[in-house]
Amino acid sequence: MPVTSDVDVNPKADADADSSESASETGDELPINELFESLQGEGRLAGVPSVFVRTSGCNLRCWFCDSYHTSWEPTHATMSVAEIVAEVESYDADHVVLTGGEPLMHDAAVTLLEELDARGYHTTVETNGTVARDAPIDLASVSPKLASSTPTPEKDPTPDGNAGEWAERHEERRIDLDALATLVERYDFQLKFVVSEREDVTEITDLLGRIRDAAAVEIRDTDVLLMPEGATRERIAETRPVAAELSQEYGFRYTPRLHVTLWNDAPET
Ligand code: SF4
Repeated sequence: MPVTSDVDVNPKADADADSSESASETGDELPINELFESLQGEGRLAGVPSVFVRTSGCNLRCWFCDSYHTSWEPTHATMSVAEIVAEVESYDADHVVLTGGEPLMHDAAVTLLEELDARGYHTTVETNGTVARDAPIDLASVSPKLASSTPTPEKDPTPDGNAGEWAERHEERRIDLDALATLVERYDFQLKFVVSEREDVTEITDLLGRIRDAAAVEIRDTDVLLMPEGATRERIAETRPVAAELSQEYGFRYTPRLHVTLWNDAPET
């Protein structure tokens, strides 16, 4: 079972959506939504015991976000980098996953990664690929968001139905070819695409071609991971066959969502 952290997560009064985008914290502290130990659920390192540091705040608003409380309704405690490192060191795992939200929005993410690197941790950063930083990252897990991620009146996770306010901003921001090229050039990487339906593959191959054109490094088909969309076992059961079939057809890698299979949509998994 995942180990519950004792991070005191206080619902912040910043329901204002824009406040979740701005990295207003100082250079040595981060808004932390969750800090816990579990198994990496996705990607090349699926199954590896890891400490997860989940920052709050995202510059996008995917309708299916499985980290709702880091993007749509951010809640967090503020922790210094020293406090985060001490908490990480209290666990046994030697892999750390810095995730969000969009962790690279925050200046202090670089400081944290430097401190973890100095202590010999393997670091994975889960990013939506819209921000590139110069930081010691062992695996950049880059997940560009497809058009199907954009919130609409029909796909609106907010209780008061205001997802439409975000649609335009999300659409403008979700692909940044310069940032994507920098991330794949600078780091060992995996490109992870969330698959909701079979039609997504057209956009994936088109975007992959654009990233390959923009980047000065080879992107192999096996660097591309297709992951079923869904934060519950029921939804994953629907999307899993599509992601698996497309992976076989196109020579991409399929990645499970191990944490959903094991723990469904429980927090801190
Ligand atoms: S980029 Fe990730 S954290 Fe941000 S809204 Fe989309 S799924 Fe959520």
